[in-house]
Amino acid sequence: MYNDQGPSEDDIDRFSQDETGYCPHCNEEIWDDAAKCPACGNWLHDGTRHEDQAVRYFKNKFVVCIVIALLLGFFWSVTRLF
Ligand SMILES: [Zn+2]
Repeated sequence: MYNDQGPSEDDIDRFSQDETGYCPHCNEEIWDDAAKCPACGNWLHDGTRHEDQAVRYFKNKFVVCIVIALLLGFFWSVTRLF
């Protein structure tokens, strides 16, 4: 018989760890234990990638900085026209 008393401790561990990685094929963030990428449908024979998580975080920050710099430069040049 199945135990329907609720999630087991293993389940709670799994949900609280928030284990996600990145698909090596399409770089989508997916569940670490996924056998197949839900985004592109490729099989994850070697599992998900993890090293890109930090890289992507800093890349996003870098892009945001560039955008802010461009906007500031734009407004600066606009205000100088008047
Ligand atoms: Zn994928």
